Amino acid sequence: MTSTYITTTIPYVNARPHLGHALELVQADALARHYRGRGDRVRFQAGTDDNSLKNVLAAEIAGISVQDFVDANAAAFTGLAQPLSLSVDDVIRTSTDPRHRAGVERLWRACAARGDLYRRHYEGRYCVGCEQFYTDAELPGGRCPDHGTAPELVSEENWFFRLSRYAGQLRALIAGGTIRVEPAGRRNEVLAFIDSGLEDFSVSRGTERARGWGIPVPGDPGQVIYVWWDALGNYLTALDYAGGGEDLRRWWDGAARRVHLLGKGVLRFHAVYWPAILLSAGEAVPTDIAVHGYLTENGRKISKSSGATIDPYDLVGQYGTDAVRWWLLCAVPWGADADFTVDRLVARANDELANGFGNLVNRVVSMIHRYRGGRVPVTPAGAPDATALDAAVRNAPGLIAGALEDFDFRRAAWAARRIADEANRYVNRTRPWDLAKAGDHAELDAVLSALLRACQALGTHLAPFLPDAAARIARQCAPDGAGLLPAPSPLLPRYQEQAYQD
Ligand SMILES: [Zn+2]
Repeated sequence: MTSTYITTTIPYVNARPHLGHALELVQADALARHYRGRGDRVRFQAGTDDNSLKNVLAAEIAGISVQDFVDANAAAFTGLAQPLSLSVDDVIRTSTDPRHRAGVERLWRACAARGDLYRRHYEGRYCVGCEQFYTDAELPGGRCPDHGTAPELVSEENWFFRLSRYAGQLRALIAGGTIRVEPAGRRNEVLAFIDSGLEDFSVSRGTERARGWGIPVPGDPGQVIYVWWDALGNYLTALDYAGGGEDLRRWWDGAARRVHLLGKGVLRFHAVYWPAILLSAGEAVPTDIAVHGYLTENGRKISKSSGATIDPYDLVGQYGTDAVRWWLLCAVPWGADADFTVDRLVARANDELANGFGNLVNRVVSMIHRYRGGRVPVTPAGAPDATALDAAVRNAPGLIAGALEDFDFRRAAWAARRIADEANRYVNRTRPWDLAKAGDHAELDAVLSALLRACQALGTHLAPFLPDAAARIARQCAPDGAGLLPAPSPLLPRYQEQAYQD
């Protein structure tokens, strides 16, 4: 059986989650459900990055202990699994999970044994917002381009990782597609970065500057391991890397795919630093690095610090899981940025979910009840004039699989939508009510049965995108032991526009 390992990035928990986090989680969930449906053994891994210095600073401002602070925010992140219907298999928290610290230490020792870690004096400008050192050339006007703040000058002795040693190997792995970076524009960005010359990078900081928060460097308690080393390590530590047992064999070395899903802002860490650390430690590299864009809300950048963003819990509370998932999967072009507004979410929920899917299934089941007493019509194959509808049903699995191979969630969801569009057209063209009036029973049975097959296909093929609605559709279209369909009930609600309370 094929094993597929799918990860999301572990967000730092200096604030509650926003809609951008929901995007990545829902994308990963659609992939996980798709691969499971195909028969793969899948592990969908999520977690939280508790060890960032940003968390420490945010806790100081909030006036509570760092552990209490990260506990509360981490719970808000892991709690998204319920409202978003996420099929997460495991969650790792870097500050509390015993698998994590032991695993990070093992990873450190493995790279040290390879001779890739060394101490050296370093001076540079460190942006805490980015958790990253910058050269002066990278800071126009002395300010971080992302945060607009002037990064502090840090001068200390640090541990460095010999990234420069892996430049050639990394380039070959990415250019040759062993590590597939999608979309292609992102791959080119990584290759250009490698070609600009890879320098060794600092992978520790003084314990004092880290406020004593984080994982001490093994054998050097005056230094704390760089939070990015610590955070990237979660992809292995969650598999009990320290113990080196069955999880690690199954989901890392032995997996057919090791898929990291991430936002464009952390591409360099995942496509350059992380594979280099793995090469140094003698471990397999990821097979897929899938990079999504960012969301804006009403044209504004979503920012954890502004506090004026839409809370995914509130959004699901008002519009339901299906509407939120559908917008995230269908409205956001793969790899590109997208702007969220409540109006757009409501328009899609009404047009595509309520009118498109819900109304279709309701109409078909109602007609089977009205004309056939709820009994599923049995007909010899071949309904009249159903070529386009049958093709949409037949082609959907291949189109969905192909689109998801490219991480194009929108194209994949459209293949399912196509079934509903063709089915609605088919109803209008064949006019089953006229066939019933004319007493054309054979043709009516053939038409109803073609339509029911299409609705059943929707129940199957929508499952990766809308697990809740798909389950309701599947139940509505499943005959009981006596061959009768359940009485028709509304499946997907319509919403009033502009009802959202900010
Ligand atoms: Zn910054």
